[in-house]
Amino acid sequence: MPTLKSARVLIDGATSDLSFTYLVPEGLAVSEGQRVRVPLRNRSAVGTVTALEDVDADALGYSLKSLLGTVSEDPFLTPGLMKLAEWIATFYLAPIETVIRSMLPKPSRGGEERRKTEKCVEAAVPVDAALLASFNKRQEKQREALALFGERGVVPLAEATGALGMSRSSIKALEGRGLVRITERIVNRDPFDEIDYVESAPLPLNEEQAAALAAIVETAETLEKGEKAKPILLFGVTGSGKTEVYLQAIQRTVEAGKGAIVLVPEIALTPQTADRFKQRFARIKDQVAILHSNLSEGERHDEWRKVLDRKARIVIGARSAIFSPVRDLGLIVVDEEHENSYKQDSIPRYQARDIAVVRGQIEGCPVVLASATPSLESWNNVNSGKYGLATMRQRIDDRKLPLIRIIDMRNEGRKAQSGPTILSTKLRAAMEQRLARGEQTILFLNRRGFARNILCPECGYVSNCRHCSTTMTLHRQDDRLICHICGFSQLPPRQCPECSSRSIVNAGYGTERVEEILRQVFPTARIRRVDTDTMRRKGQLRETLDAFRAAKIDILLGTQMIAKGLDFPNVTLVGVLNADVGLHIPDIRAGERTFQLLTQVAGRAGRGELEGEVVVQTYTPHHLSIRYARHHDFEGFAEEELEMRRCFKHPPYSHLALITARSVHQERAEFSLKTLHARLQRRLPDGITLTDPLPSPLVKSHDQWRFQIVMKSTGARRLAAHIRATMKGLTFPADVVVTIDIDPYSMA
Ligand code: ADP
Ligand code: ZN
Ligand code: ZN
Repeated sequence: MPTLKSARVLIDGATSDLSFTYLVPEGLAVSEGQRVRVPLRNRSAVGTVTALEDVDADALGYSLKSLLGTVSEDPFLTPGLMKLAEWIATFYLAPIETVIRSMLPKPSRGGEERRKTEKCVEAAVPVDAALLASFNKRQEKQREALALFGERGVVPLAEATGALGMSRSSIKALEGRGLVRITERIVNRDPFDEIDYVESAPLPLNEEQAAALAAIVETAETLEKGEKAKPILLFGVTGSGKTEVYLQAIQRTVEAGKGAIVLVPEIALTPQTADRFKQRFARIKDQVAILHSNLSEGERHDEWRKVLDRKARIVIGARSAIFSPVRDLGLIVVDEEHENSYKQDSIPRYQARDIAVVRGQIEGCPVVLASATPSLESWNNVNSGKYGLATMRQRIDDRKLPLIRIIDMRNEGRKAQSGPTILSTKLRAAMEQRLARGEQTILFLNRRGFARNILCPECGYVSNCRHCSTTMTLHRQDDRLICHICGFSQLPPRQCPECSSRSIVNAGYGTERVEEILRQVFPTARIRRVDTDTMRRKGQLRETLDAFRAAKIDILLGTQMIAKGLDFPNVTLVGVLNADVGLHIPDIRAGERTFQLLTQVAGRAGRGELEGEVVVQTYTPHHLSIRYARHHDFEGFAEEELEMRRCFKHPPYSHLALITARSVHQERAEFSLKTLHARLQRRLPDGITLTDPLPSPLVKSHDQWRFQIVMKSTGARRLAAHIRATMKGLTFPADVVVTIDIDPYSMA
């Protein structure tokens, strides 16, 4: 009775998690997690091997088709990642094949791995004196070329004809005589290849740092013994040396022969961050893979490949780096764990911080979540005993946290002679002082563009986007009104389109407008603006930050791009121009975010020898977030905010699911959602509640009408199971898209 090897293959692009069994042809090495090509009906398809099993061919009663081949020799996904994919698919209600493919870099998602290759030339025979002597006078160029190939081995063709000055015809001639051969070689693009890093030695740790490191080491040892251990929340004020702690934890991990993943928020993944790791691990810098969003798709792929090929063991990257195929994972660090950018806003809508904890459980490795302002989810997990806690209250060298002054802008408005102000007298005076002393200032405003919108004081007209239910922002540099939701732009009106009044005004301030004001108020100061409008070119941010570090800029004005992770010793003043920007939005985390932002921004001041000062301008000085941020009191804030969340049964005391239906046809979106709502309400399990179908806060976006239901449950799994069961077999009109977001971060 012949037993044959077979593979269970999950087909790509299948909406219903389609998987089939195929025979593994003799001599083809296939493992779980491998990407393969298979016959499917009359075509060929690509899929992932989810299991291997022996089948009894006789007992089967029908014949199996065979695999056509593999996408690459090695599996792209480790067993741990396959388990993780399953977990994500269940928890976030996403098709598992989508989850698997989103774990891979784009050039590896299809039926072949798109890799960069180049033509190379090498000698095809041993090059010795006798061979070289056999060339005649007219073949001098060929002789020289061959001698060089003999010396150098493999030479890229472009280099041979370029820097080495050979002619194409002599290479062709040599190839014709069988003396050299031209081959394709895979090139690995290493964006950091050129840079020489100066090694930075580990610093002697202070007491709190040593205790935090000891907690991580102890966790690793516990797990090593096969026992359970909790994730650790590393709660340390900005500048308390958290990064130093986990740099040393990584070093130990690597010395123990294991790998590490460090997640950094997209926005904090600056060249500076990358440098810090490359410097610390300068001796093994090639083993550090950086999955930077500024890299090209190909470069990112090659960094990922280095990890897959076991050439790199330390991975630093944003959100999706949690899926790096690191084998023998010994540590996962999530820096700035509270950051919203860890939440993916397309399918699968996972939260990388939570995924890190799950991956840590699967791989049996320590997980460290670090922040000066932990998410209330993590803080609550500490309170309930799910996570361990390491606290660092001291800044390095006992430097004081900066003094935070709150400016009530309602008073400033009254003082001002005309119109609203953006620079209070106090902030302006503080800036003048810094300029006189040769110290630096960072100004922060989380709104780019010139004005929030254009407004007619006569009839109340506001410049709205015709595709979205939101206002268009004026960008003066391009002289356009731009929608920040869909990117639609148009010329700003010179007079009111409704009543033709010529007195239309620019309402509200964006960074562009503030820059203009700053140049008027401080004509001699060196000012630079940092936002997505000014930093479009690759490398521009790095240049600007280098210039700022070298004190070639006095005032750095920017959006949240400059809020985090930057470390400038000569900055003694940070101004928050409008702390209320993110406060009054329909979002349960609005207050938490504002608190985090203020604290992080404040952490930019006084990083060096000089003491820092922070000026926060606000129209709501008594708001919870602002009151506690002023005293750098995370614990106080968390207690009061959590109390409120508990009263309303908001997360972290519940899990939410946001179900949205969108369509260009308003009625169809609304009707589909109502149908779904009725079904969800039928046999609603205990502990789950849901809202009526309502228009989304952003009811129209990209020409699509949007309606939503918010569901709430004490258990996430129960919630997901109910939604899955309800959705099963339910179809919607072709032009209606229904999306489900478990643990949503944006309700818009
Ligand atoms: P955090 O990540 O908590 O904001 P960092 O690790 O970036 O803090 O440390 C802040 C600064 O203090 C950095 O310049 C770092 O090099 C320095 N530093 C950290 N730990 C020590 C130490 N033990 N001794 C001296 N300097 C340190
Ligand atoms: Zn008007
Ligand atoms: Zn729009």
